[in-house]
Amino acid sequence: MPKIAELIAQGRTLSFEFSAPRDAEGERRLSRSLERLSALRPAFMSVTYGAGGTSRGPTPEVVRNIISLGVTGMPHLTCVSHTQEEIGALLDTYAAMGVENLLALHGDLPEGTTEVPPGHFTRAIDLVALARGRIGWSIGVAAHPEGHPKAASVEAGLDHHAQKLAAADFAITQFFFRAEHYARFVEAMAARGVHTPVIAGIMPPTNIEGIGRMAALNGTEYPREILARLEAAGDDVDARRLIAIDEATRLGETLLAAGAPGLHIYTMNFSEPARTVARNLGLA
Ligand code: FAD
Repeated sequence: MPKIAELIAQGRTLSFEFSAPRDAEGERRLSRSLERLSALRPAFMSVTYGAGGTSRGPTPEVVRNIISLGVTGMPHLTCVSHTQEEIGALLDTYAAMGVENLLALHGDLPEGTTEVPPGHFTRAIDLVALARGRIGWSIGVAAHPEGHPKAASVEAGLDHHAQKLAAADFAITQFFFRAEHYARFVEAMAARGVHTPVIAGIMPPTNIEGIGRMAALNGTEYPREILARLEAAGDDVDARRLIAIDEATRLGETLLAAGAPGLHIYTMNFSEPARTVARNLGLA
């Protein structure tokens, strides 16, 4: 399987993100979406890993499924609530599957927990260091262009990111809706001497309430004009889907024109509207 850093070096990348399914119906929907989106020959497809203990198990299986479709599969791995031994065992599992790429994350603490248990990881960068010591993989990290809610200040958050990105081969951003957040973040990294490629994460805003909840959690700006367009469509699901495609396509065009090395589409395990957005952008 190719390394993502090498794919980025060859030209702009298209990638899709999927979540580990929680039940049998979710599994069926995911399988259909993996098949349909793999036909677009993306550079890679990634699979989330539930930090709260839920939906952790299926991630290796979904990555295996992606590889069997002939696409590079990248697992997300969160280090919160894991010991070094547990992380080592997961890396061994992936190495045995032929995986050569990893998205190293901190993850959020399980609900009801406020303290990281002694001996557990506290920062994604420590997971990057552990993985580097064992494997010659391409290692990515998360970027939060609008800041992370836990950052003590904007500057502290940017310094934290600069240190983490400098240790990684690439980064993938949280979803955002305004291209200027991405541009400002990349500039702030460059000003700190960090030029690690930052793949832009985009989410077609189909689900008004779900995206509103996620945006509030992540500290992502949910522009009023997008919300107003979606609300004006009322219960017309097709109209909303067209608006989501239009918004994501326009954002993607701006980001690619601004030099983003790739686009990572958050699919929510649906093949549409991700497929149409990728085609509109000429990435498929
Ligand atoms: P870290 O970089 O370790 O840090 C967390 C944040 O805390 C920092 O961004 C920073 O603002 C602050 N911080 C920590 N230490 C310092 C410091 N010393 N100084 C200043 N600030 C500090 N979660 C999952 O559970 N499973 C997934 O599969 C998953 N996939 C994701 C994929 C992407 C592309 C993104 C962007 C996020 C994903 N997340 C996932 C969410 C992520 O785990 C959370 O946002 C988490 O709270 C932060 O993880 P991180 O790896 O950025 O953490």
